[in-house]
Order: sequence, then C-alpha cells, then structure tokens
Amino acid sequence: MTHFDAIIIGAGQAGPALAGRLTNAGMTVALVERKLFGGTCVNTGCMPTKTLVASAYVAHLARRAADFGITLDGGPRIDMARVKARADTVSAKARAGIEASLRGMPGCTVIRGQARFESPRVIRVGQKHLTAPRIFVNVGGRASVPDMPGIESVSYLTNTSILALDRLPRHLVVVGGSYVGLEFAQMYRRFGADVTVVEMAPRLIAREDEDVSESVRQICEDEGISVRTGARCISLWPHDQGVLVSVECADGPPDVVGSHVLLAVGRRPNTDDLGLDSAGVATDARGYITVDEGLATSAAGIWALGDCNGRGAFTHTAYNDFEIVAANLLDGAHRRLSERIPAYALYIDPPLGRVGMTETQARAGERPLLIGRRPMTRVSRAVEKGETQGFMKVVVDSETQRILGAAILGTGGDEAIHGVLDIMNADVPYGVLQRAVPIHPTVSELIPTLLGDLQPSR
Ligand SMILES: Cc1cc2nc3c(=O)[nH]c(=O)nc-3n(C[C@H](O)[C@H](O)[C@H](O)COP(=O)(O)OP(=O)(O)OC[C@H]3O[C@@H](n4cnc5c(N)ncnc54)[C@H](O)[C@@H]3O)c2cc1C
Repeated sequence: MTHFDAIIIGAGQAGPALAGRLTNAGMTVALVERKLFGGTCVNTGCMPTKTLVASAYVAHLARRAADFGITLDGGPRIDMARVKARADTVSAKARAGIEASLRGMPGCTVIRGQARFESPRVIRVGQKHLTAPRIFVNVGGRASVPDMPGIESVSYLTNTSILALDRLPRHLVVVGGSYVGLEFAQMYRRFGADVTVVEMAPRLIAREDEDVSESVRQICEDEGISVRTGARCISLWPHDQGVLVSVECADGPPDVVGSHVLLAVGRRPNTDDLGLDSAGVATDARGYITVDEGLATSAAGIWALGDCNGRGAFTHTAYNDFEIVAANLLDGAHRRLSERIPAYALYIDPPLGRVGMTETQARAGERPLLIGRRPMTRVSRAVEKGETQGFMKVVVDSETQRILGAAILGTGGDEAIHGVLDIMNADVPYGVLQRAVPIHPTVSELIPTLLGDLQPSR
C-alpha cells in the first residue's frame, strides 16, 4: 500500500490543475490516468474539433472569395490528410505539455492505468494499491451508443473514431442534431461531403429557443446540409453503398443512405468501471456521481469534478469545479456550484454564444420581462465581414433590472457574449452595460444598443 495525501483519478480538465494546487500546498499527490493526458477536450473534444472547424472555415471562405473581390483559379482542394495532421499536431502538443508538467511537478506521482475503488480510501491500479484521506474523481465521459435497431449490424463513427478519418466520406449521415453533431455536420459539408443530419426531436438543438433552432437550421440548409427532424424511429442497416439509415420522419423519404454514419446522440459518464459501490459513492439513474454545492460526493473525503458529476458538460465547467474545490479546501473559501452562471458556445459558423436562461425558460417563470432582439444584418461589423446570418437576443427581468440570459448567433458571437456574461457575474443592473462605450466596429458594440431597445413582453 502506498500512502499519499491525495489521489486524483483522471488527467482531464480539473485533475492536472488540482494536482498543481495540492502539491503547491505541500501535499503528496498520486494522479492516475488510464489513457490520454488532457482527456476529452485535448484529444477528442474541443481542441481537435475547433482546429478542424478552422480548416473548414478557410475552405468556406475560399469558395466565397469572389464575394470579397478576390479571384482564385478554381475552387479549393481539400487535403484531408493534412487537415487531420494539423488537428493531430495541435492535440499532441497540448497532450505532451500536460504530461510533461505533471511528470515534472514536485510531489506528484503519475501512475498509468485504470483506477478502481477497493474501499472508500483505497484505489487499485493494476497490482498497485494506493491510499489517501482525500480522493478526487475526474473521470469524464464518453460517447453514448444508443440501443437502436440494427446498430450491431453496421460500422459507425463516434466523435472519437471520426477523428481518425483522413479521407472524405462521400455522404456522412450525422445521427443527432445537437451541439457535437452540428459541428461535425458543417465542417464535413465544408470539406466537400454530402451531409444529412437526422434528429429525433422536432427541431435542431431543441434545448435552445425556437428562433435559435430555426436560424441554425437555415444556416445548415443554406450550405446544402440536408436536415431531417422528427425522426420517430431511427434504425441502421448494412447497404452496398455504406449504411442505410431508416428515419421515419414526418416529411421526406423514409431512408437515407450514407457512406458513413456518425453517432452524436449524447454522452455518458465513465463511472461504470470505477467500483463506486465499494466506496459508497452514490450516482443518479444515468450514472452521474451525485455531488453537493462544494462537489463533495455522498462518501466523506471523496469529491467528483467535471463531466462525471453531471453538473456541467464543458471544459470551463470542469475547470471551475477545480477552482471551487481548491478554494474551499486550501483557501478557506465557501464557493458554491450554484453561483456559476451557465455559459457555452456552439461552434458552427457563425457561432452561437449563450449565457443564462433561454427566452423559453424565462417565460416559464412569473417574472416581468423585457426582451431585445436584433438581426446581424443590422450589425456593421457583420455587414463589413459579409457574414450577416443570425441574430442577437437578450432577456431582462424588468423589476430587478438584471439580465437573465442572452444568445448571440452570429459572427464573433462566441466572444461578444462575454460582455453579457461579465455583467451578469458582476450582478449589476443592465443599465451599467447600456451606458458603456464599446469599440467600433465590433459585434459587442451593439449590445448596449440592444439594451436600449428592450420591449416589455409581459
Ligand atoms: C466532440 C466534442 C467537442 C467538444 N467541444 C467543446 C468545446 O468546444 N468547449 C467546451 O467547453 N467543451 C467541449 N467539449 C466537452 C469537453 O471536452 C468536456 O466537457 C471536458 O473534456 C470534460 O473534462 P473532464 O475533466 O470532466 O473529463 P475528461 O476530459 O473526459 O477527462 C477524464 C479523464 O479521466 C480518464 N479516466 C477515466 N476513467 C478513468 C479511470 N477509471 N482510471 C484512470 N483514468 C480514467 C480518461 O482517460 C480521461 O483522460 C466537447 C466534447 C466533445 C465530445
């Protein structure tokens, strides 16, 4: 049995930073990683996908070059092997950096292998037994593979295996019209594949407001992506040209034949092989580890951070879990999970930046609301860039004068949304932002204008 002050399971987005804080505080730490340093974000999530999105954007702009007065001889040719190599390099560099920093961290012992609880204080990794009074679980999640008819009879891609493709699929069928699926759908369309998105719900990204879903659908369809929503029963069958996806939609033909199928239908936590029962760590019905406001689990001395606790599904939420745990343990703070204002982006182009409540969520409450909406066609910067798709919207509580939520679907929306996020975090009336003097010409400069044009909606 080897003794440590703390054990961290998983080198994803919370574990390495936590190892740094704990060892700086003088603790000995064992960090266990079974696969790739940096976890999902670095290896199969944010980093490779946003690198691919950047390549796809270049292809898209090259096709539009004439719109900007630039003449290219012929359309762009996409070298998928080089596109892939670029994404691989970005990920590999980040992965190597994280591993090197952990291995060079005084007081940190890096252990490779699958960690499993033997008891509330003991972790087994292969033949090794480790014990510590504090154990931090940062095991992340993986793609769900739904139990749809015929699934075992075909080969399919997930967000991980699609990254190994170095040739363009002839026709990619994306099952799942939400955040992960739409990013892949648009990038592959821009690389030159035929793309069909199949979604069970009546609309894309069904958690967003209807106007956002509609606008995103329009953006996809304008680029030639075929969108099939309301697919009541999806099944997959072998076909001599690849895979036949039976969709049973309200409209359109009942089948789609693709050369490749990507399953993008959600994620599940990596908690089924951790031995959580032996430690008395409770999970919910979907396997997410139940945590309190400080990320503590049902077992004393065990915390769960990142995607595995089901309280966030993003790199920034996993990192914020680390910040909460570290501040409470080491700085005597009393930070709470519920203080976090939800914010995220969908990285199609143009991107969707989101913060706080949707309009639908706000309307479901009793509060009096003010709502502002502005199309990107009325944003100078968007006009100048020739990227006028989308709109921005903000929802305000008219009594408290606080912004409840906002969406910016448009060029620069993933950056511009931070002005709204900052004012929400500052917890001051929206008038403070309305009186600000932003830089011209930017997308952000229209946020004060939007706030000056709010309409009562209840
Ligand atoms: C395609 C895609 C795109 C994404 N894009 C974005 C984005 O743009 N922005 C964003 O904020 N988020 C994005 N995400 C989500 C983001 O990647 C995750 O929210 C984030 O990686 C979660 O971090 P984590 O630390 O909780 O877990 P992970 O990063 O998944 O790390 C968990 C680590 O634990 C290890 N592990 C698991 N079980 C064990 C065990 N028993 N023993 C030892 N080690 C173990 C795993 O190998 C892994 O390295 C994306 C996700 C996907 C799939």
